[in-house]
Order: sequence, then structure tokens, then C-alpha cells
Amino acid sequence: MSGRPDRLVDLFAEAEIDVMLVTELVNVRYLTGYSGSNGLSLVGPRTRTFVTDFRYVDQAAEEVDPAFKRVRAPEDLLEATSDPLPAGDVRLGFEDAHVSVRTHVRLRELLPDRVELVGVTGLVERLRAVKEPAEVERIRAASAIADEAFERLLADGLVGRTEREAALSLEVAMRELGAQRASFDTIVAAGPHGALPHAKPRDVAIEGGQLVVIDWGAELAGYCSDCTRTVATGELDEQAQEVYAVVRAAQHAGVEAVRSGSRGRDIDAVAREVIEQGGHGARFGHGLGHGVGMEIHEAPRLSQRSEDQLQVGNVVTVEPGIYLPGALGVRIEDLVVVTEQGCEILTTMPKGLRTVS
Ligand code: ZN
Ligand code: ZN
Repeated sequence: MSGRPDRLVDLFAEAEIDVMLVTELVNVRYLTGYSGSNGLSLVGPRTRTFVTDFRYVDQAAEEVDPAFKRVRAPEDLLEATSDPLPAGDVRLGFEDAHVSVRTHVRLRELLPDRVELVGVTGLVERLRAVKEPAEVERIRAASAIADEAFERLLADGLVGRTEREAALSLEVAMRELGAQRASFDTIVAAGPHGALPHAKPRDVAIEGGQLVVIDWGAELAGYCSDCTRTVATGELDEQAQEVYAVVRAAQHAGVEAVRSGSRGRDIDAVAREVIEQGGHGARFGHGLGHGVGMEIHEAPRLSQRSEDQLQVGNVVTVEPGIYLPGALGVRIEDLVVVTEQGCEILTTMPKGLRTVS
């Protein structure tokens, strides 16, 4: 992680701050390496401080980048935020998207008047959006585990099993293959249930002749994967086949449109256009994709309103869907990394309609 605090400091002039207080744990982990549940960090041009309580002292000694001075504090870590600050007037940035009103009040009480608290939004997140090669490799490895677990699930068949059983066996397979956990709650949604983009698996048996939407991912070494496939459990009617073909074409067009310099909303529009042409424009109710990394949803966004401009090193999903209430749903999702040439697909599974009994 060396280099990351320096890149954070490079953003300070624009944010008009002198030092940054990082309390969001995933951001603390990104900057320092610490993966425990109580820690914070102060970063400035000449400040590299990591604070935790006695429970995590040993873990911090193992994990935290040696560039950081490690400080042991009472469980209320905020009490240790003023000591590492430089002398004189200080504009101290805090993560206004994550700090509660109560914490803000407490900070104001604890800090001397010479320290001005300045809310900043998404500074570390902006760094995290551009992956280093080693981070891409971790996401690729998480994705490979998810892919292999899916093949195991399909090999065991779907018809007659409940959605919940299928979701559980997918999660167990990912754990067996080395994942720490599923990167989010697995979705298995058969037939009409697939028309809910965030369907929860039910205790209902999967029938033959249905479309089944399966959305799952693995977390490995702090990084997530995310993928969706829709499979058939037997012969489909014409409408289901047609919807699948439209989503597949939209997904292909979306992936082709991913390149550095393009805006999120323009890439979304390319895939959305295919679905509109297919006559289902009103049935694609979510954005085309999102960044994936240490968190399952992060910057940048591919959506109708997103002004985010893609850069080499962004990892995003491309996941168009069509949802016909009471009938069926289809979503196809790949994870891709933006490269100099366009993008590389990290998901290795085929996208042609697969039939599993
Ligand atoms: Zn997904
Ligand atoms: Zn997704």
C-alpha cells in the first residue's frame, strides 16, 4: 500500500485540507493494510498515524504498513486524534459520508479550536476506483472462485431444489474453494420471481422450463467479485428466448462500449438502446453497472445519470436486465477491467443460454 497515502495527500489542495482523518474501515484498510474492526488513520504531508485499541495491537503490528506510526488508544479512538496533528491552524478533513452527527460533535469537543473540521466526500474512494495491477489480480482470483463454484452448482442440477438450497450450495462451494465469504447475499430467483432485480431466495422448488437468475460473488483477500447468469431449466417459450437474446445483445454492446475516457451515462445508453430497440425499454429499471473492489458497490457508476469518466484500472460490472412482472427476469453480468485497449472481461463463463435440468 505504499504510495497510496502520498496519492491521497496529492488531493488535499483541491479539497482544501491539511490533514485527513480516515475513519471508514475499508478506507483505513486500503491506506494502511489493517483489516480489524476498530481503527482509524491520520494522513498528512508529514503525518502517517494509525490508531487502534489494545485488542488489535498485535494484529496491527502484523498488518499495518510500517510507514505508519502505530498508536494505542482507549476504545474510543477519537481521543487520540489531536496528538498527531501538526502545530498551528489545521484544516482537518473528515469523511462526511461516513461520520455520524454524534461523532462529529464528539470530535469538535475533543479537538482544540485551532483545528477546523472540513467535510470531504469520497477522496479515498476516488483512489480506490483506480486499481493497481495487484488489486486486479485479486479481483480476478475472486472471480475465478465464483466461476468454479457456479460450475459445481450446475453440475448438481437445479430442478427440484429450492432457491435457498441452490444459493447455499453456491456459497458453500465458494468457501470450499478458498473464498472468505460470499461478497453479498446470493440471488437465486426462478420464473416470475426473477422479475425482482434484488430477489431473495425462497423455500420454493425450481421447476423445469423456467429461467433462473443467479447473481453471486466471492470475497477473497479483501476483494469482491460480482457476476450474474440466467440459465434455463428446460425448453423455454418464445418470449423467454427472445428476452434472453435481447439482454445478451445489450450486454455485448455494453462491454464493447467500455473504454477509458467514456462517461458512465454514455456506456449505459449504448446497452439501453439495444433493450429499447428490442421493445423492452421500460423493463430495464436499473443502471448498467457499478465499480467493484474492496466493496461490492463502489465508484465509478455506469448509469443514466453518471458523469463518471472511466480510467484505465477501473473495474466495473456490465449487467443489463429485462424484468417482466409476473413472468420472468433475465440479467447477464460480467466483471471487466478498463485497459488501454478497451476492456478485459474477468468473468470466464459463457453467455449463450445454458440449459440445466
Ligand atoms: Zn451481481
Ligand atoms: Zn452487480
